[in-house]
Amino acid sequence: MSKPLTIAIDGHSSTGKSTLAKELAKALGYIYVDSGAMYRAVALYALRNGWVSASAGCQESEINDSLDNVHISFELDGQGINATHLNGERVEEEIRTMEVSNVVSHVAKLVPVRRHLVALQQAMGRNGGVVMDGRDIGTVVFPDAELKIFMTASDQVRAERRQQELAAKGQHWTVAEVLDNLQSRDKADMERADSPLIAAQDARTLDNSDITKAEQFELVLDWVKSLQS
Ligand code: C5P
Repeated sequence: MSKPLTIAIDGHSSTGKSTLAKELAKALGYIYVDSGAMYRAVALYALRNGWVSASAGCQESEINDSLDNVHISFELDGQGINATHLNGERVEEEIRTMEVSNVVSHVAKLVPVRRHLVALQQAMGRNGGVVMDGRDIGTVVFPDAELKIFMTASDQVRAERRQQELAAKGQHWTVAEVLDNLQSRDKADMERADSPLIAAQDARTLDNSDITKAEQFELVLDWVKSLQS
């Protein structure tokens, strides 16, 4: 049997990281971990407590002091979705709203939040055979990952894809509003002091502006096979 790899997928917002990560994990029989869902769950907890807003930023000490009360888990539902749970409540849909997207980067820049979630992510992937997507997986969470991918796509392509995804879930925003959210999240993620979004030196860049999901999947599967042989 080939050695189980650790696959780290990072990149800009809405570049299809989780779609690729899920497909790969399924094909390889690996665990999939959506690290962004964990930051979103903490952001939702902070939002519900009134500790963060898009315009005013966040009340750092309240959030940092509450981390031991924030329990995040992933549970497979009847539809085969590995749904995010916050303190036992399914929040898979709620964490993906624009309200959460508009505040998550404020919460994700807090050092105690990152330390807490990185430790959980490292524990989840400690035996290898894992595909994890996020912003700092190849640089901080698994710097020794055998395969690191950095995904990107043009701003317009990303905003249109995301706008359609949200519309399909009944959340109607203009492409311009979605674009604004993507650009400000990327800026905040790239400029934060602690573990900013950056391609690991040994990451393979994947720009999917002009390739189909199927082409992308084949390409990445070839990379995996070359590492397993
Ligand atoms: O991947 P997703 O878009 O759901 O991530 C939401 C946000 O969580 C990102 O914009 C970023 O602020 C934060 N994040 C992070 N580090 C990760 C994953 C996500 O800072 N590893």
